[in-house]
Amino acid sequence: MSSLDAYNKKRNFNKTKEPRGKINKSSKKLKFCVQHHLASHDHYDFRLELDGVLKSWAVPKGPSYNPKDKRLAVQVEDHPLSYRTFEGVIPAGEYGGGIVMLFDIGTYKLLEVNQNSFKFTLYGQRLKGNWTLIKIKDNNWLLIKERDQYQKRSAGIIKFNRGVKSNLTMSEIKKKNKKYSS
Ligand code: MN
Repeated sequence: MSSLDAYNKKRNFNKTKEPRGKINKSSKKLKFCVQHHLASHDHYDFRLELDGVLKSWAVPKGPSYNPKDKRLAVQVEDHPLSYRTFEGVIPAGEYGGGIVMLFDIGTYKLLEVNQNSFKFTLYGQRLKGNWTLIKIKDNNWLLIKERDQYQKRSAGIIKFNRGVKSNLTMSEIKKKNKKYSS
């Protein structure tokens, strides 16, 4: 059984422009991405490449640079590596229907990994430095900024309202993909 079966099963690729799930070879430099996803619930999707797929977590409040903020991160189905550049509109009524903005993209270094935690360094355009994901129970994890030169005590959520590559706002992404949103 492929770890992308759940991903493929949830989607109708005749209707959504999201990529079809296919396992890739692992890259030399591990990749990550974060997507701001305006669906039934506003959240951020945090994705780390591991074993040829993107391990994925939905983070309702988004990542924070404040080490005191412990952000709930709910693990969701693995996504294909090709998802890391996806930005666009998922049609209403389809799984995850809404607008997806590419919030950050880059590589990362895995410092430590076991069943219940990941420690890593992000080399993104917006997210940098050391972070930890710790499993609490079932699919619930916490995303925490580690103390380093990038931490900021005052900054809560990291807000950027334009796509990191496209420079488009949510409403511009919606307009550009008009025929998919109704
Ligand atoms: Mn999502």
